[in-house]
Order: sequence, then C-alpha cells, then structure tokens
Amino acid sequence: MAGTHILIVEDEEALATLLEYNLGKESFEVAIAGDGEEALLKIDERAPDLVILDWMLPKISGIEVCRRIRSKPETRNMPVIMLTARSEEADRIRGLDTGADDYLTKPFSTNELIARVRAVLRRIRPGLAEDKVTVGDIEIDRVSHRVVRGEKEIHLGPTEFRLLDHLIQHPGRVFSREQLLNAVWGSDVFVEVRTVDVHIGRLRKALNKYKQGDPIRTVRSAGYALDAG
Ligand code: CA
Repeated sequence: MAGTHILIVEDEEALATLLEYNLGKESFEVAIAGDGEEALLKIDERAPDLVILDWMLPKISGIEVCRRIRSKPETRNMPVIMLTARSEEADRIRGLDTGADDYLTKPFSTNELIARVRAVLRRIRPGLAEDKVTVGDIEIDRVSHRVVRGEKEIHLGPTEFRLLDHLIQHPGRVFSREQLLNAVWGSDVFVEVRTVDVHIGRLRKALNKYKQGDPIRTVRSAGYALDAG
C-alpha cells in the first residue's frame, strides 16, 4: 500500500503512535493530528487517501470533523473510519449518519483496523488498495516501484512514478495541471504549473520507449488523462 496516505486523528498519544507504527509497517504513509482543528488543517494542506478519526477529540469533535469533510466538495468522498469507545455505542448510528464509511469500537486489534482500512479503500478506490495496479498493458508495483509495459520494464524518475501512480488510479479521468500539482507535489510546495507539462512529457517518453503507443491523452486547456489500452 505504498503511496497511500493515511491521517490518524487521535488525542491519545500512545494509541496514535501504535497505529502509526503498525500502518507504517504495512507501507502506508502516515500523519497524525492530535485534535480536530489540527486534523482539518492537515486535510487542507494535503488531502489524505483515508482518515482514521477518533470520536472524542479536543477542540473540534470527531463527528464535527467528519461533517466538515463531507460538506466540502474536494473532500466529500474521502474515506473516514471512526473510532468510538464502547460507552458511546448509541452514538455509533449517529457516526454512520454523519457519513463515516466504517467504525471501530475501542479497544480493537491493529490487525482488525488494517483489515478495515484495506476493505474501505478497496470499496472506494479499487486502484488504491492494491500494491499492484494494471491498466491496459501498463502495470505499476507500488512496493518495488517497478513499472512494466507489455513485459518490458520502464524506468521512471520518482516524480514520473508518482504522476503515473495518480493517473492510473482513475483511468480515463481528466486531471487539470493544478490537480496533478496538488496530488503529486503537494499543495504547500511552490511549483510552476508548467512543471507538470515537463514531467508529463518525460512520463510519456518513458512509457512509449518501445513504441507501444502513447497512453496519455492531452485535453486542450483541461489537462491530462491516462487511457486504458
Ligand atoms: Ca479521544
């Protein structure tokens, strides 16, 4: 699951650290927020692929964080797994009403959490939950960082790899340069929009090294898409 970014929102430091360690072992990229306010800031800075959200949090409650995630168009479909204490059993239903994709009652095993994380990712974005994704004749392996096209290995730089990894999760969908910038470089980094064109150019060249056809479509004044061959 390398390349999958998870935000843990939990004020109990020991639990947050334990989850960070165990998800990290599964090759997830993990960030921690200790309260609801910090969570919303971090989500704004860099949208995670999934949020693990504690119900009882200082400043802004988990339920409110979830509500705000659901109310913004950019984060509306962000998967959320809610953590609740057993005494909050009755609140679970409300949690699901607010739009959490799943919930876990404390205490839970980390294996159970990881299984739920994978299940939610698989359901929501099939391409994300797997270490290997194949679209047409292109196969990307997120663990070994290898790309193969029609049995030939393709060598990509780290930025081109991340670009391809992003495009391959949504075959056929057109991404604007700004969307690609945010997804690949992060919204907190200053990079010129034109830089995207340069790296798309390199990615294109690498993918077509063996003259198998250019899989990247340029949509004039809109952006780029990866087409399934
Ligand atoms: Ca808590």
